[in-house]
Amino acid sequence: MYKIYPLLQGKDFPHIERNDLNILQVNLGYKCNQRCLHCHVNAGPNRKEMMDLKTVKQVIKFSVENNIKKIDLTGGAPEMNKYFKYIIRACKENNIHISDRCNLTILDSDGMRDLPEFLVKHKVEIIASLPCYIEENVNSQRGKGVFEKSIKVLRKLNSLGYGENKELILNLVYNPQGPELPPEQSKLEIDYKHFLAEKYKVFFNKLYTITNMPINRFGSTLVSKKMFRDYMRVLKNSYSEKALEHVMCRGLISIDYNGYVYDCDFNQMLSMPLSGKRIHISEINIKNLIGKKIMTADHCYGCTAGTGSSCTGSLL
Ligand code: SF4
Ligand code: SF4
Repeated sequence: MYKIYPLLQGKDFPHIERNDLNILQVNLGYKCNQRCLHCHVNAGPNRKEMMDLKTVKQVIKFSVENNIKKIDLTGGAPEMNKYFKYIIRACKENNIHISDRCNLTILDSDGMRDLPEFLVKHKVEIIASLPCYIEENVNSQRGKGVFEKSIKVLRKLNSLGYGENKELILNLVYNPQGPELPPEQSKLEIDYKHFLAEKYKVFFNKLYTITNMPINRFGSTLVSKKMFRDYMRVLKNSYSEKALEHVMCRGLISIDYNGYVYDCDFNQMLSMPLSGKRIHISEINIKNLIGKKIMTADHCYGCTAGTGSSCTGSLL
């Protein structure tokens, strides 16, 4: 794995500040049942990092005390954390909306097959990766058999009301196969909906197109193929001032499995802590976050290229 951070040290990304704090993105750990080529976490079955119960409780305490309305659970596969159900129940009791960034296949793994019903019961929003509607493209990016298993899980979720009942939101995530920008989100969503419904009888709410971040496994692959600089050029040449106004770090913070705070999940993966210091969720004062400079480097151009990109898709 190549070290990417030293390659992202350009100084020209514009100054940005946090406007508000609406979402807490909580990384429950880096373990995952998959090992996808485009992973910005470098997650996989051998990772050991996991949020413990003490930290989970600190995250909930912060959220309740600061009136956070939405927690976005991510990983790795967040479901592999043994406190996954605990955090969802606690959020529900405190009227906090929760979304699960789900790779789908985990819901059809040993010990996890009761999770779809659990997610229904707690009305958890599911944001599921399906980077293409063509089987061979998904399998080449995410592993052999992933597409077939993903379709099986999507059908199960549909059968429980996901994607149809307005309280059971199921959104899908597309990301490009290689070092290019995603196509227009609204047009691609039409294609996805048409193809998945016709061929597989699968239904979902929205499609989020997300630009691949030039960090961790994806960044390292670009370096090894000598494509890193070209991809950075694509991102920089497609810079959008309008997208900059809406980058997601203006309204969220990211928490790592140890409870330390970052401006976003990508900065977490680059070990770029909030304000350049390691600050723990138990020490943070929400007032000190608003109006504060966000830590940036060249990977931020991944959020401002074309129509922009965030964990909820295109920004424009
Ligand atoms: S992209 Fe998602 S599903 Fe794939 S290895 Fe990374 S965390 Fe796991
Ligand atoms: S990478 Fe993170 S800090 Fe940079 S613009 Fe995107 S969300 Fe903001």
